[in-house]
Amino acid sequence: MNIFKGQNLLEFSDRFKTDVDCEEYLSELKDKRTFQCLKCNHKAYQRKVDFSRQCNVCNYIINISS
Ligand SMILES: [Zn+2]
Repeated sequence: MNIFKGQNLLEFSDRFKTDVDCEEYLSELKDKRTFQCLKCNHKAYQRKVDFSRQCNVCNYIINISS
């Protein structure tokens, strides 16, 4: 039973890691399709740790929810 429990924890850990990776990947795809700076219309940006985006030209920040 102890071994079986350990395997479940490993599976949970792996799935969580995959979900985060997937979310990050999808967020990046969405950004590449849709990003355009609302201030200067530039299309290149940097993605911040909280998934908001910052324009490379004017540094305007767009939240992921907007
Ligand atoms: Zn801009």
